[in-house]
Amino acid sequence: MSDEILSVSDLEVSYGDMTVLRNVDLSVPEGGVVSVVGANGAGKTTLMKAISGVKDPDSGEITFRDENTVGLDPHELIQRGLTYVPERHTVFPEMTVLENLRTAMIPAEGSNSDVLEQVFELFPILDERRQQDAGTMSGGQQQMLAIAQGLVVEPDIILLDEPTLGLAPKIVEDVRDTILEISDNGVTVLLVDEKIQLSKEVAEDLYLMRKSTLQYLGERGEFEAEYERILQETIE
Ligand code: ATP
Repeated sequence: MSDEILSVSDLEVSYGDMTVLRNVDLSVPEGGVVSVVGANGAGKTTLMKAISGVKDPDSGEITFRDENTVGLDPHELIQRGLTYVPERHTVFPEMTVLENLRTAMIPAEGSNSDVLEQVFELFPILDERRQQDAGTMSGGQQQMLAIAQGLVVEPDIILLDEPTLGLAPKIVEDVRDTILEISDNGVTVLLVDEKIQLSKEVAEDLYLMRKSTLQYLGERGEFEAEYERILQETIE
């Protein structure tokens, strides 16, 4: 069993007087791929925002590399090695691929100059298009660029919020391969998705978010059956 890189304990988050996360516990082992699935509005994005420092929780603990990170802003978290690629993240359309990546490197002070080349190695499609304006690329290529922007800060963990939203099946496969490669390179991945399909192929642990609460469904090999059972129970 690997060490835990990120954990969330008894988290509660609200917008005004509406509580959207309650008693949320989550454990992410270092080097793994953990996925949170759940319907629209269940609270997945709110969880990502709380972990990445965008949204302050009402109560609870978020621990990254054994330190409580509640109260830190996204910039500080990037510097500590946690990066967040939001749902429908938009790149700068009138900037080239290279310019978009350089912009994303700004928060990572003192970053390694080889990082761009390492990222281009992972994304040959972006390497070929370094000088192309991002806005002229396909949706799938722009999504790859969004993920690449998350990687140029050399994170220890990357949070991906619905990275295949609206993408054609072939491109979904490319995103899946990229996630596996990111993980092979030693970067932990926390993925959020509406459906289970992508998670079945990449996740080692699966959580289900329903009605503001998060439930652990198990490891790969066991979580599929549990997911189906819950789905069936909900339909009945
Ligand atoms: P989606 O896939 O649609 O993003 P989600 O599971 O990520 O769904 P959240 O975006 O976290 O869900 O939303 C959880 C709840 O919080 C929803 O009821 C949503 O309407 C509400 N909500 C989200 N953002 C805000 C906000 N800024 N102000 C008020 N309510 C919000």
